[in-house]
Amino acid sequence: MMPKMPKPIEPTLFTLALGLSAPWEVKAVEFDPVKGRIDFELAFRRGAKFACPACGAEGQPVHDTQRRSWRHLNFFQYEAYLHAGVPRTKCGACGKVHQVPVPWARPNSGFTLLFEALGLTLCKVLPVNTAAQHLAVGDDALWNILHRYVEQARALEDFSKVRRVGIDETASRRGHNYVTFAHDMDARRLLFGCEGRDQTTVQAFADDLKAHGGDAEKITDASIDMSKAYIAGVGKHLPNAAITFDPFHVIQLANQALEEVRREEVRHQPLLKGSRWVWLKDESKWTETQAELFQSLSSARLQTTRAWRLKESLRELFQTASNAEEAGTLLDAWHSWARRSRLEPFKRLANTLKEHRPGIIRGFDSKLSNGYVEGFNSLVQAAKAKARGYRRPKNLIAIAYLLGAKLTHLPASPFNTRCCAAAQ
Ligand SMILES: [Zn+2]
Repeated sequence: MMPKMPKPIEPTLFTLALGLSAPWEVKAVEFDPVKGRIDFELAFRRGAKFACPACGAEGQPVHDTQRRSWRHLNFFQYEAYLHAGVPRTKCGACGKVHQVPVPWARPNSGFTLLFEALGLTLCKVLPVNTAAQHLAVGDDALWNILHRYVEQARALEDFSKVRRVGIDETASRRGHNYVTFAHDMDARRLLFGCEGRDQTTVQAFADDLKAHGGDAEKITDASIDMSKAYIAGVGKHLPNAAITFDPFHVIQLANQALEEVRREEVRHQPLLKGSRWVWLKDESKWTETQAELFQSLSSARLQTTRAWRLKESLRELFQTASNAEEAGTLLDAWHSWARRSRLEPFKRLANTLKEHRPGIIRGFDSKLSNGYVEGFNSLVQAAKAKARGYRRPKNLIAIAYLLGAKLTHLPASPFNTRCCAAAQ
């Protein structure tokens, strides 16, 4: 005896669940538990007419159809696919033959809009290759989705209110390619990223600002590091921006000078062995052992100890000075101390700081600090460390936009159904 056939699956339910509306409906459903997939055959009502995608003329008859398939959100644990013959109209008004857009997918995408929205949502919280594994799609396919949506969302952003910016570099690959990021320091969001760290990156930023309704001439402040390229770039392309050199980079230079002194001295001073982290950390972050080590070292007359005091006093200067005038006085005192220190790296640093004095003390009035930018950079570096694929500058920039640009035109998670229903 033949086994009893299961009841056919009711397509109407799926027409509703997929959010389809006339003339589209689900015609048939095929479920294959062995292959772990469910396939939905969609069709438009016979005799349906469509607007011409080229000129918009309504009510054009269907010329022919082209078979297309899309990966959709899983149905329970099964991969789901939609299939349809997508109509082309031959327009009576403009004469062109064009494929009609379908409401569930972008033109030329092999995924539905909801599937892509899920992909984007996962990329915000997971490394892209991990998200791709969960979705059972290739890494490249997911990167493509990400690039497409980020680009689309960015195109709609408005930069007309941007006045104070921070420009900074980050390494996209150890020791190689650099990426320049420009931020809105007031809205605390990433505005722009591009490869390189020369002055043309500032020009590219100014162009992008303009493309988003902003105005390079209205930028009043730019916080940068002391690189010649950024200084020249800002001077040329953000003509009215006062430059602030942010404290983070100044301290970074002092740390480099200290490290140079220590490395030289450790070659002939065994006392310094194993003390590197004591010098590089802030005093407040020392462990008990490190504090004891410092105590025993400070009684010896070491160059490194002197270098450390110079570095620490510079750090304190940034914490205690309450305005530009006070900072200027302290900086001048520090300058003459460093000049007399007989430590070459600090003498050089003293000269560098003197040369950039106006931009350094300006920070005490503009109150622009790259603290937020540095936080953003750590976020990007952490994302990069977690997964392959992020070392390509193009990908790193896309992820940076997704994480830090506060883009308002990205699709919401498809699982946020309540919020979607409320919005409709
Ligand atoms: Zn037409």
